Amino acid sequence: MRVIVIGAGLGGLTLAHGLRRAGVDVAVYERDGAQGRPQGVSLHVDDRGAAALRACLPPAHAAMAEATMGGPREQTLVLSEVAGELTVVGTRPSGGVAGRARPGRQADRPLLRAVLLTGLDDVVRFGAEFTRFEPRADGTVRAFFADGGTDTGDVLVGADGIGSAVRRQYLPDVRVADTGRRMIMGATPLRAVAGTGLPGLVGDSPAAVQGGAAMMVLGVLRFTRRPVTAREELLPALSSRAVADAEDYVMWALPGPREQSGSAATVWRQAQDLAADLHPTLRLIVAEAWPDVTAALRIGTIPPMPAWPAGPVTVIGDAIHLAPGFGGNLAMRDAHRLAEALAEADRGRLGLLGAIGAHEETMRRTSFTPVAAKASA
Ligand SMILES: Cc1cc2nc3c(=O)[nH]c(=O)nc-3n(C[C@H](O)[C@H](O)[C@H](O)COP(=O)(O)OP(=O)(O)OC[C@H]3O[C@@H](n4cnc5c(N)ncnc54)[C@H](O)[C@@H]3O)c2cc1C
Repeated sequence: MRVIVIGAGLGGLTLAHGLRRAGVDVAVYERDGAQGRPQGVSLHVDDRGAAALRACLPPAHAAMAEATMGGPREQTLVLSEVAGELTVVGTRPSGGVAGRARPGRQADRPLLRAVLLTGLDDVVRFGAEFTRFEPRADGTVRAFFADGGTDTGDVLVGADGIGSAVRRQYLPDVRVADTGRRMIMGATPLRAVAGTGLPGLVGDSPAAVQGGAAMMVLGVLRFTRRPVTAREELLPALSSRAVADAEDYVMWALPGPREQSGSAATVWRQAQDLAADLHPTLRLIVAEAWPDVTAALRIGTIPPMPAWPAGPVTVIGDAIHLAPGFGGNLAMRDAHRLAEALAEADRGRLGLLGAIGAHEETMRRTSFTPVAAKASA
């Protein structure tokens, strides 16, 4: 069996590893160059993402990913200013209900991506923008690329994110809706706020703080093991560039009342305005942030959709469902489940379309987390 995957994001790369481990021929096509585009600095990895990484990645890759995550995050601290000091005034369990995150650990996103790319040089083709597919009479699917290239496989997987070109052609009725929610996210080197007492106050837990009309969510990522030494011991094939600059940081998010836009530096200045009423330590976090990783986000959702008949084309991750704050975990879980289903078909234990259909049914049941879309005016 030959599987063509569109998109070298969290889902596509996890799937590629899972298929390779199962002995299935796989090719990944990625529109961007090898450096990719910034997609946030950190990723809260919960039990679903961690299980997928362990199942799909070679053991050394999985060990490297886990060794460099932060400590356990089991609750969200509620902070408030008491007599001028930031103080923990409550906790919220991370139970995975009511939109709350499940317990997990924080991963550095560029480092996780570098780990996922390690060993896939012969599988991932960068700078290859998928444009359309064509089902063929023999049951195979041909994929077409912007540079005029084509590839043919038994299965085509759209792991191409929120704007998925595969989904647009395969399930044209699916719409991405705007929730109206806006947010600025950024990160600040821990050394810049080390003297404030905040790192000791929050430990590894995420924290939420309200100050006037403003609200901030933050978390400290302290690498459990230094990435440079973990690489030497666990995964020397990992590019040394990926670990050289890795340092502990605070990631933060500021929900905003309206659209923020412009260059990263402009958005960083907008974040400083949003933080103006917060405690001085929180203002310092924003002021000392890395401007180039500050990003304005609009939160979208994909309303639930009726089942579709299984075929040799399928979609995983953000291409078919959106989950603010845990979509990466769902994308990796989809990848894990689809890799297992395709491996079973490859071994002749399941029919190919039956395997894909069963996977899609499970995905529709467990990964669609509708978020209210903004009422249209
Ligand atoms: C700031 C931020 C913070 C987040 N934090 C978390 C978190 O803590 N935990 C969590 O679980 N999730 C988090 N998410 C969500 C998570 O990032 C996404 O859900 C996840 O990346 C989805 O993975 P994916 O593989 O489906 O898509 P993506 O990671 O978006 O990958 C899609 C890939 O497809 C490529 N592509 C697109 N179109 C084409 C084409 N036509 N041809 C070829 N390639 C194409 C893209 O370049 C991209 O590389 C966060 C998101 C953001 C933006």
